[in-house]
Amino acid sequence: MTQAHILGYPRIGTQRELKFALEAYWNGKGTLDSLLEMGKSLRHQNWQTQIDAGLDYITVGDFAWYDHVLGTSLLLGHLPQRHRKHGVSHDTLFKIARGNTECECGHAQDMTKWFNTNYHYLVPEFSKSDTFEISWQQLFDEVTEAKQLNRKIKVNLLGPVSYLYLGKSIDEGFEQLSLLPQLLETYQQILQRLADLDVEWVQIDEPILALQLPSNWLEAFETAYNALQGHAKLLLTTYFDSIEQSFSTIQKLPIDGIHLDLTTGPSQLETIASSIPSQWVLSLGVINGRNVWRSDLSHWFHTLAPIAKARKQNLWIGSSCSLLHTPVDLESEKKIANPQWFAFAKQKVEEVATLSLALNGDKSAIDWCAQHSKPIHERKHNYGVIDNKVQHRLQLLTAASSERALPFSQRIRAQQQKLNLPLLPTTTIGSFPQTGDIRNVRAQFKRGEVDQLQYQAHLKHQIKACVQKQEQLGLDVLVHGEAERNDMVEYFTEHLNGFQTTEFGWVQSYGSRCVKPAIVVSDISRPHPITVEWSSYAQSLTNKPMKGMLTGPVTILGWTFPREDITREQIAKQIALALQDEVSDLQNAGINIIQIDEPAIREGLPLKRTDYKAYLDWAVEAFKISAASARPETQIHTHMCYSEFNEIIDAVAQLDADVITIETARSQMALLQAFESFDYPNDIGPGVYDIHSPAIPSIHQIEQLITAATQLIPLERLWINPDCGLKTRAWEETQIALHNMVTATKNLRVSLTK
Ligand code: GLN
Ligand code: ZN
Repeated sequence: MTQAHILGYPRIGTQRELKFALEAYWNGKGTLDSLLEMGKSLRHQNWQTQIDAGLDYITVGDFAWYDHVLGTSLLLGHLPQRHRKHGVSHDTLFKIARGNTECECGHAQDMTKWFNTNYHYLVPEFSKSDTFEISWQQLFDEVTEAKQLNRKIKVNLLGPVSYLYLGKSIDEGFEQLSLLPQLLETYQQILQRLADLDVEWVQIDEPILALQLPSNWLEAFETAYNALQGHAKLLLTTYFDSIEQSFSTIQKLPIDGIHLDLTTGPSQLETIASSIPSQWVLSLGVINGRNVWRSDLSHWFHTLAPIAKARKQNLWIGSSCSLLHTPVDLESEKKIANPQWFAFAKQKVEEVATLSLALNGDKSAIDWCAQHSKPIHERKHNYGVIDNKVQHRLQLLTAASSERALPFSQRIRAQQQKLNLPLLPTTTIGSFPQTGDIRNVRAQFKRGEVDQLQYQAHLKHQIKACVQKQEQLGLDVLVHGEAERNDMVEYFTEHLNGFQTTEFGWVQSYGSRCVKPAIVVSDISRPHPITVEWSSYAQSLTNKPMKGMLTGPVTILGWTFPREDITREQIAKQIALALQDEVSDLQNAGINIIQIDEPAIREGLPLKRTDYKAYLDWAVEAFKISAASARPETQIHTHMCYSEFNEIIDAVAQLDADVITIETARSQMALLQAFESFDYPNDIGPGVYDIHSPAIPSIHQIEQLITAATQLIPLERLWINPDCGLKTRAWEETQIALHNMVTATKNLRVSLTK
């Protein structure tokens, strides 16, 4: 009999209950007991959902108070040195995650993206003297809790090799892999304790197997899994990409089963699935845990039926990865158009269960699968999905469609003539503080308490004040401040055709933070100009150049749920064409500088290095399509929020933006290294102060940073700006910081040209 399971369920709750309970606790408005109660109630709801749908196993261990990697660190008694004195507790956990404001050295652990998702995990810190010891009972307590439901339990645990790999060494020259033997001893104890609690199966996640690992890391799997056998049964779990490149090693491991993600690595069905030893469980992840679309269950039923027959009880059907990355429940959406196209976590659980029933020969389940797939098939012929005009424009795209009319060297001369900017031009990245005032009026507008005209008048008032302040500060290139935008991607998805927004489609980003990505549902086009009115209004208030502000195609794509019937490349190009029209309209309205932000280019990189080029090729092309309508004298800027450029610097140069502004203030060295070996051809503004920190940079500090940058970047190509948007900062600090930035620049204009 085929068995059904999922790899994990969202912990945040249908109405973001966990978020509110966490924040209440942090603000002193809720007690620890009420937070613990909320966690318990969410776990029970999640298990009940799995039971009601008819899954064969309920998954335990996927709940986390902040993040599951941090939870693993606590379980292993592996806390950053600076937080150890507080002992292991919920409060310590939150201090590690959020920083301990009571003591200076209590900074938080680093946070970084969980593979290529928008979820962030807390990066374990490794040093030579680290030891491990079971120190946090949460996992065992939850197993005990779940056992009361009298169901078969599968426990989810992050595997030891991935745990080490995903962390960072804080001792110079120290390779954390050398901690593996000690770590394995603790893992053995954990597995033994689970076995003692009658846990039969452990879903041991080793997502790094989808990467192209260095050989010592791949070999570590042999050491690890030889040591871990003999306690509970191990389902070695992989996801986010295929593991074909690691399979010869995996095949030799003494494990009891393997999970493959067929949504990101469909070829594995051919290449690997048939070579899985028959005594192993083969778990196939076919229900996409990273998107919101209904599955084509009839397709899967027909594909998997022969395998189910051959493997008998050794086939499991599951979600591709944890459902953590999908919104919780489609039923909460009362206004969504075409609900029959979608499945959120709860519906995906039902899909897994029903597909498994169908594979076990249940006639009504087979019918259900066929019915369920119909809307997905019909969607292909739905005239609302395909826009012939968009299709036509896509067909006309050639290599020339993404090129500007003249090369940079000639463009920049035309731009200088038009803009007449001083040496070391100063600017900002786009947003200015989003005050409570702005947010309140937006909320009132959304609730219908203020009308469109009142709302617009208020925004104009904000823009005017923002422009005045920039003039007073003496900045050279101004921005309108983005007061009209709640979020740089959401704003565009609300104004373009082809996107569907949800009311409750929240997905955890980190801790209590959730995002609500829009869904790409059909071909994308621009019904009317989006930003032109705001930018023109702002330009009318000043003689200084006003920079138009757009979010780039790769970033809009990266922060939304894509369609599954066309490629990401096609979606990106559709967005790019819509933005190209916006660029035309902006320049026709007298906006001579236009910034197209692409903070998400790097995070969209595929997991395998060998796939980088194909991705970067289309990502670069999409960006260039959006900028291609700019006349030579219109200056195109772009902005990226990271400094680790080394891997993608060639692609960044190929974007051929006239000016790039980038984050560097936090890790100046990383940027400088990149530019030592690479001569960036166009203008560049390495951020001269860190907007993420409340600390105000002094004139002297900024002078030093600019001076350092002049060692690598020719003076005439250097711009001066903060390292990201100022949206999250307060006006007071922003004004002082920018004043210091402008003063430092003015000083250097004199001293550097002497
Ligand atoms: N223009 C945007 C802003 O200033 C850019 C934000 C970002 O880089 N994430 O807010
Ligand atoms: Zn940024």
